[in-house]
Amino acid sequence: AYNFCAGPATLPESVLQQARDEMLDWRGTGMSVMEMSHRSDEFVEIAETAEKDLRELAGISDDYAVLFMQGGASSQFSTIPLNLLGDKTSADYVNTGIWSEKAIAEASRYGAVNVVASSAAQSFTTVPGQDTWNTDPGAAYLHYTPNETIGGLEFDFVPDSGSVPLVADMSSTMLSRPVDVSKFGLIYAGAQKNIGPSGLVVVIIRKDLLGKARKETPTMMNYQVIADNDSMYNTPATYSWYLSGLVFKWLKEQGGVQAMGELNRRKASKLYGFIDASDFYANPIEPRFRSWMNVPFTLADDALNGEFLKGADARGLLNLKGHRSVGGMRASIYNAMPEAGVDALIDYMTKFAKERG
Ligand code: PLP
Repeated sequence: AYNFCAGPATLPESVLQQARDEMLDWRGTGMSVMEMSHRSDEFVEIAETAEKDLRELAGISDDYAVLFMQGGASSQFSTIPLNLLGDKTSADYVNTGIWSEKAIAEASRYGAVNVVASSAAQSFTTVPGQDTWNTDPGAAYLHYTPNETIGGLEFDFVPDSGSVPLVADMSSTMLSRPVDVSKFGLIYAGAQKNIGPSGLVVVIIRKDLLGKARKETPTMMNYQVIADNDSMYNTPATYSWYLSGLVFKWLKEQGGVQAMGELNRRKASKLYGFIDASDFYANPIEPRFRSWMNVPFTLADDALNGEFLKGADARGLLNLKGHRSVGGMRASIYNAMPEAGVDALIDYMTKFAKERG
């Protein structure tokens, strides 16, 4: 089966097999990783190796702390303003879709949010050019969502935020292509797309931004506390951390983010190319900003959606239903989706359009 779910998403088969093989007895310890103390030498080695591999893969320098936190990406929507607003009164946000909106709504609880640009009027089918952004040089930070997982809209540039720290929700972008981390103040990513199991969230924060949390910030949300304790202030999500480490090893074997970027570009352009050439399927996003990770599409007749999904399921093409807020279909094609999965989907879409179009 090929699983096109947006998250939790498909994981590399070899990673799942290794996890199965090690499930009951990790390297002769007689314990599952799930049963190990997070303070044991064994787990500390697993945790440190995962961080080291992630640093290598993403090119993260020692100027940054890497945190393995809990509560998913959504918890960061409040953790970020609590930590980064400092003595500033406002933060800048770009609104390009549903995840931006959620981040904006949450941040508004802690300070003034200045929405510097929005493509809401274009139904989030495009990214407003940076020359039109109404940014404030006195803002605490500038937040944006490089890939809108629901809308399938992806930035093809990194915004220039000047001296204002740039903050990015890379939940569905992280490790899918090379990114210059040094341009960012903070990057966060819910793990369940390109990293590992849900619940875990990876935070990459420039060290000079630590130590600015408001005094009422919950201890568990204070970046300085988490960094000082190597993400083990409390019991971390040990098994998710371990599995993420296996995914990082797998990624390195595949050739890292450079190779992933090339593969992802190829998979996405194949699928968009097919959709554009068909008069039965459509994708509304301005071509330049089409996501490499999430490909939403509609059928010529919505009444055929149920039949399309049923036929897909029967062929092992799973979870193609679009997000409940937008309808239609969505194929998420993260790192672990092989090109053969995209080929199988196109093959099915071709046959379905021929029969029902
Ligand atoms: N941000 C983006 C871009 C997402 O795709 C998601 C979806 O899972 C989230 C945030 C929310 O992540 P979580 O469910 O881990 O809180």
